[in-house]
Amino acid sequence: NEYTHKPHVAFLASPGMGHITPLYELAVSLVTQHSFQVSFLVITTASTLAQSEYLNSNPHPELHIVDLPPADMSGLVSDDMTAVARLCIIVQESIRPLRSIISGFKGPKLKALVIDIFCTGVFEVCNDLSIPVYSFFTASAVLFTFSLYLPVLDREVEGEFMDLPGPVKVPGCNPIRIHDLPDVQARNRNMDHDYQWYLFHVSRLNMATGIFVNTWDDLEPVSLKAVKHEPFFLNVPTPPVYPIGPLIKQIDPVVTKYEKEIIAWLDKQPKDSVLYVAFGSGGTLTSEQLAELAWGLELSQQRFIMVVRKPNDNVAAAFFNVGCEPDDPRTYLPDGFMERTKGVGLVVSSWAPQVAMLSHPSTGAFLSYCGWNSTLESVKHGVPMIGWPMYAEQRMNATILSNEVGVAVKMPVVGDKGETVVVQRDEIKRVVQMVMEGEEGTNIRSRVKELEASGRATLSRGGSSYETLARVAESWKLG
Ligand code: UDP
Repeated sequence: NEYTHKPHVAFLASPGMGHITPLYELAVSLVTQHSFQVSFLVITTASTLAQSEYLNSNPHPELHIVDLPPADMSGLVSDDMTAVARLCIIVQESIRPLRSIISGFKGPKLKALVIDIFCTGVFEVCNDLSIPVYSFFTASAVLFTFSLYLPVLDREVEGEFMDLPGPVKVPGCNPIRIHDLPDVQARNRNMDHDYQWYLFHVSRLNMATGIFVNTWDDLEPVSLKAVKHEPFFLNVPTPPVYPIGPLIKQIDPVVTKYEKEIIAWLDKQPKDSVLYVAFGSGGTLTSEQLAELAWGLELSQQRFIMVVRKPNDNVAAAFFNVGCEPDDPRTYLPDGFMERTKGVGLVVSSWAPQVAMLSHPSTGAFLSYCGWNSTLESVKHGVPMIGWPMYAEQRMNATILSNEVGVAVKMPVVGDKGETVVVQRDEIKRVVQMVMEGEEGTNIRSRVKELEASGRATLSRGGSSYETLARVAESWKLG
């Protein structure tokens, strides 16, 4: 694609659809609504099929995809490494040539570089090159405020956070139950590489010129109020915070035969009748839990589409190989399950066109792991949720969605001591029926429809998220 004279910003996202999607959608908004051109830097190491299909569907001539050269990772990462540490090392190695890549850009000098939370290693180079860096925090505002507070907690708390006597109270925010803290934050923090990496990056957040968050007031009023107008959140100078959500994948290309079959199946089902079940780009259930889930769905007698992966005891086992070859789910689902549920249920292996499914009129609810992008996709399409958190900050998300926002019912996957418990088939059947047919389902459905309308309004001209981005874009043009 040819560069033009339009104002130019660059983006850098760490691997994983959860980071790439919101940054890419922000880039699209800048190109289509605010007359920018964007260079979108892609870390090609650990790139997945899902990622390249999504980026290659790029229909915007002013959005230039720039592949970073693959980094030499020999001896640096291994399959038994934890996900965040591995991701951070890949980013660290991949951005080594950043200075020469940015300096070699054709087109006008960059007005800004937008990064996600795991790319804070760019600050020094951009400082040298006088390019302001904006961070896009792609998860919830609840996790954002907690993350700003984490360096304080880290200094003040001795021992593990999970042994704290009461909830974590981030100033101005609702208390967070200890059980809802992300696993890596709660346990073994001095030993845990994921925790140390996360702390490193969030400690550097205030080096950014501004921070975008993928949320809006009606969804997370309390956390946003705490940071939005506070130049000194927690007595530390904090960059301005810009809520610009909900930015979700606009186009979900349904191209393969396999994807078309899923949508064709949905086309044949009655309105709001199908429960969509999925555990995200990385989530995997244990064999025992997967069997109970399958039985629970069967007993509920509801229509469903379930995305399954080979069971694994590591909850985020699939993070680095999503979108790979589908396998045969018969080998790990209960005997005869697929035959008995034929017509009522559809089992999809590995990866599904989620946004296309959530926007389909037949989809009535989403049994969701509560990843933030998935949550926004569900809310934006008016689909109520059953919260089944798996890893990262998903427990926090599930709690706010059910207790504060009122768009989800939680599946009881967390035990009294914060441990993950195996939910039994009868319980699954009960919750599924309650949401698909019961009064609780009606309530959360009407609440999510209100938020769907609010999400549309905030992104339209005159709406808060639209105008917030417009103001930043204007300041870049003048800068
Ligand atoms: N996704 C998808 N198909 C799948 C699983 C995930 O299209 O089978 C997409 C989903 O729509 C979302 C992203 O991948 O945009 C996952 O991001 P999220 O923040 O929900 O969770 P993560 O998987 O990154 O923890």
